[in-house]
Amino acid sequence: MPSNASGRSDKHTAPPLPEPLRVPVADSHTHLDMQSGTVEDALDKAASVGVTTVVQVGCDLAGSRWAAETAAAHDAVHATVALHPNEAPRIVHGDPDGWSRQGARQPGGDAALDDALAEIARLAALPQVKGVGETGLDYFRTGPEGKEAQERSFRAHIEIAKRHGKALVIHDRDAHTDVLRVLKEEGAPERTVFHCYSGDAEMAEICARAGYYMSFAGNVTFKNAQNLRDALAVAPPELVLVETDAPFLTPAPYRGRPNAPYLVPVTVRAMADVRGVDEDTLATALAANTARAFGY
Ligand SMILES: [Zn+2]
Ligand SMILES: [Zn+2]
Repeated sequence: MPSNASGRSDKHTAPPLPEPLRVPVADSHTHLDMQSGTVEDALDKAASVGVTTVVQVGCDLAGSRWAAETAAAHDAVHATVALHPNEAPRIVHGDPDGWSRQGARQPGGDAALDDALAEIARLAALPQVKGVGETGLDYFRTGPEGKEAQERSFRAHIEIAKRHGKALVIHDRDAHTDVLRVLKEEGAPERTVFHCYSGDAEMAEICARAGYYMSFAGNVTFKNAQNLRDALAVAPPELVLVETDAPFLTPAPYRGRPNAPYLVPVTVRAMADVRGVDEDTLATALAANTARAFGY
């Protein structure tokens, strides 16, 4: 969009390249298929500032197939596959207003969810697929009528991750207690990542005791997110990851503009401040933690 006289010039333009990291890290959670531009450009731009690896996350069947294909084609990309917690109820009940790229869909019932889960399990077996997710619970976008399908899908994803020895990537929105409960009931996989960690310091202690990884996104930089910074401050250094969740959650001072993996250094620097460590020390830990969490 061209700039204009009304002052809206940079709302839709990409933020500038940050200063490169000296120690390369991974973006542990991104959605390249929802960003503008080509995969190659996104990877080149990210690598130019020290973000040399990305985990491409699937949210529905088409997106999960795309993630697996993209990871097969690029060494710098690892894939995860899943039906997003807001996608599962849509498969069962249908939802013409959903954000899914497939748009309006007829309700398919429980059998349709089973079929979709079988396809996720097939994709999860592929070697370039390092995780199952994002799965979990989202009580912000899914109402009570979708809860049952959502929890059934979450439990099935946990089983798939364990069956194939892959990491589990959790999406937890306004559902901390139930996410922790379901994980405990099912038995969490050996490697479990809370993507876009949104709990407080007390929950970080619970995650730490369980050995769950906590992946921090750009919202850790937001003015109103002191609870996230408090959680980050107490999280064990070996369990902390960084992510963009791009195109969402662009870090300050670029909040509201398009996010992409090349902006990871902005968040890493903010995180280093919170933890009172230098950038290189944190980046070294983040790189090792992400590789350990996803087993690459
Ligand atoms: Zn998510
Ligand atoms: Zn995501």
